[in-house]
Amino acid sequence: MSGVYSWSRFAGRTLAAAVGHEGAPTKLIFVVTKRCHSRCVYCDIWKVKDTPGGLDNELSLAEVRSLAKANPFLQWIDFTGGEPTDRPDFVEVIQSFAEACPDLLLVHFPTNGIATKRIHETVAQLHQTVRARLIVTVSIDGPPALNDRLRGIRNDFAHAIDTFAAVRREIGAENTYVGMTLHGHKASCGRTSSELVEDTFAAIKTALAERGEAPIDWGTFHLNIPHFSQHYYGNQANRADETFGGTEHRAEVAAAIEATATRAQTGASLAMRGFERIYRAEARRYLASGHTKITCSALLSTAYLSEKGEVYPCTIWDRPLGNVRSTDYALMPLITAARRDGTRRAVAEGKCPNCWTPCEAYPAIMASPIRSTLALITGS
Ligand code: SF4
Ligand code: SF4
Repeated sequence: MSGVYSWSRFAGRTLAAAVGHEGAPTKLIFVVTKRCHSRCVYCDIWKVKDTPGGLDNELSLAEVRSLAKANPFLQWIDFTGGEPTDRPDFVEVIQSFAEACPDLLLVHFPTNGIATKRIHETVAQLHQTVRARLIVTVSIDGPPALNDRLRGIRNDFAHAIDTFAAVRREIGAENTYVGMTLHGHKASCGRTSSELVEDTFAAIKTALAERGEAPIDWGTFHLNIPHFSQHYYGNQANRADETFGGTEHRAEVAAAIEATATRAQTGASLAMRGFERIYRAEARRYLASGHTKITCSALLSTAYLSEKGEVYPCTIWDRPLGNVRSTDYALMPLITAARRDGTRRAVAEGKCPNCWTPCEAYPAIMASPIRSTLALITGS
């Protein structure tokens, strides 16, 4: 019964946001740590640990508990990194929110999949102790040799497959995704992005079959498009590089997304298939024009919190809004101030850097029912 109440509350709050009501956000993107053992070519987060003081001053577990208590309205949290499971108290971090947020429905985290045993144990503990639905995305960026080169770790592909299989056995296929980011692939091996998506999917299927595991479905294979952000990825310099963000590469990525959209999206629920169809339609529009027709809901339905307690509108816009350490860990004073000073209005008017990241895309789809329904029907 409480689940039904929480979902109806979520629907009501999303609907209120859709008509412009500025209540508390339903979703938080929380960077729990910038620690990461990958060495991805398109993201500089892993370099933070080698920067003097880079990992200092991250919110402690005691602070995270205060944060959770100060923001009990949260219903959906993306715990991201870095590699979230590199934080030794990651399970307790999530449990803190599960205890303090009575209507928490959805918990998601991405993982590089390197430390299979630890990641599996983390997922198993969370599955047993947290009531909210748990969704995990394992990053795989190509067939074995290319993936390992792009992610800078020997045998990364094999570890990621082992992790994907272990997590899927624990929480089910409908909650376990592969996330493939389409940055600079073509320049790395001479294949088009469309060909690489097919190669990667086939390689994952083969690797799972070799382990006696069920195949992966297209419905649980998610494509991420290139994004740049100094305060989060630290990769703003790549924007000028044609390999990563140029027009030709964007057209390539759009073609890959279009090609996979024709695949039967088996393995995902009907609702997720609908969201994915809208996500892909708007992703193609964004790659072609730099804009989407769906209005971003940053600072309306969502907010972003760094590992050091700094609030930003999102993962992309490098506009610090203040630190929760100065507000007794409450998000609302900083979000309300950002609404008053015109930051939220700038988002709504597209005067921010503009992007289409999955972190913001799904809440934006929910908060734009008319435009989303059109995209769902027409696929464009
Ligand atoms: S993309 Fe993820 S796994 Fe790769 S370096 Fe960045 S945080 Fe680490
Ligand atoms: S559209 Fe703007 S505010 Fe929204 S996530 Fe992208 S950069 Fe941030």
